[in-house]
Amino acid sequence: MLPNESQRMEKIVSLCKRRGFIFQASEIYGGLNGVWDYGPLGVELKRNLKDYWWRVMARERDDVVGLDGAILTHSAVLKASGHVDTFSDPMVDCRTCKARLRADQLPEKKGAKQCPLCGGTDLTEARPFNLMFSTQMGASADPDSIAYLRPETAQSIFVQFKNVLDTSRKKLPFGIAQIGKAFRNEINPRNYIFRSREFEQMELEYFCRPEQGMELLDYWLEERLKFYENIGLPREKLHVLTVPDADRAFYSKGTYDIEYDFPFGKQELEGVAYRTDYDLTQHQKGSGKPLDYFDEETKQRFTPHVVEPSAGVDRTVLALICEAYAEETVTDDKGKTETRTVLRFHPRIAPIKAGIFPLLKNNGQLVSKAREVQALLRPHMNVFYDETGAIGRRYRRQDEAGTPFGITIDFESLGERDESLRDTVTLRHRDSMKQERVSISHLARRLADAIL
Ligand code: ATP
Repeated sequence: MLPNESQRMEKIVSLCKRRGFIFQASEIYGGLNGVWDYGPLGVELKRNLKDYWWRVMARERDDVVGLDGAILTHSAVLKASGHVDTFSDPMVDCRTCKARLRADQLPEKKGAKQCPLCGGTDLTEARPFNLMFSTQMGASADPDSIAYLRPETAQSIFVQFKNVLDTSRKKLPFGIAQIGKAFRNEINPRNYIFRSREFEQMELEYFCRPEQGMELLDYWLEERLKFYENIGLPREKLHVLTVPDADRAFYSKGTYDIEYDFPFGKQELEGVAYRTDYDLTQHQKGSGKPLDYFDEETKQRFTPHVVEPSAGVDRTVLALICEAYAEETVTDDKGKTETRTVLRFHPRIAPIKAGIFPLLKNNGQLVSKAREVQALLRPHMNVFYDETGAIGRRYRRQDEAGTPFGITIDFESLGERDESLRDTVTLRHRDSMKQERVSISHLARRLADAIL
């Protein structure tokens, strides 16, 4: 990482803790490596991201339905999918400092692989390390009682394919969408929430006829790029990697990785893969139950193929925060300059949509009007009422939280100076810091349009 990028990353991590976006899990007991908790602002940001994904990928489409599968998974499912035998990363040990490392991520110096922690070159041979977390179901400890925490959300979609098909009566092509937790015992969790051991995925399995696979792969790539632009990641910072044959899963006929320019380099946000009929075929073989499709028109029976856009919630949250973070020099009304830290979130995903500020906290009329505005907006969006401190400081606090709008209730709002301004407020825009006068009766509509 370049020094200024590493400094930027440090500032982001510190802001996230200070403002309540992200905390280390089990922190008061020393923390649990590779596991994170989302605080009051983080949970709203994450929820907005997931809600927007669900809206455009499932609810606004006629051809997609949803599923919420269990996390605990039967070992036979993951045996059939190949995870039990092959879901592993190559691991090496550093004999000098005893670190466990991922063999495919080691830095090289003068042709020799090095330990990134101590610089040592005395490393063991690489051996596969299975990334799945297993657990014991019930009281008996025999091998049959082993279950797994799912390493991806996709498998429950394949396993429930027939139930969903029969109950939703969809015709090909159609998709099943799911958002949920997944778990991988990563050898080296790193880069903050980018690579963790517990994370969330947003996955769509889009089933189709074999001849539609390649075209749909490109279609979904474009849809997904549009999605990232619509939440505020600019196109020029998104990159499409066509995964070369040698790096692709053997059953995939085409895979793209969508990458983003993080401060620590260009890294994957999402994989879009044409997985052929591999998954359904494996589960038909494993379970002995049919998972095929009968085409009424052609009277043909076949196993559908699938295209899978698979995105990481936490990685996208991190990209959104990195993209939004800005420091700038601003001049106040008295000509004094200062640095303001601002998170320029797209209003659609911002954790708080509007701050509501009575100009003075000890004026009953201002406070009760501000509470009225709060009650008016609350059913439609997440707003934050704040009456403490100078108004400038209250604005800055919301700038740092990424709140796109500030609503100030002042004496004009009470009609004290000019009757025509009664029941209007000052609406401040976070990025331009411009202010305008808006009637309270127009506020809900105005803001709802901006955050849709
Ligand atoms: P990587 O190569 O970075 O380990 P992957 O190619 O194994 O990722 P997939 O199995 O394709 O990842 O999973 C789909 C998506 O799930 C990824 O694009 C990523 O957004 C997310 N994801 C996977 N592993 C993790 C993790 N350990 N922490 C956070 N998100 C993850």
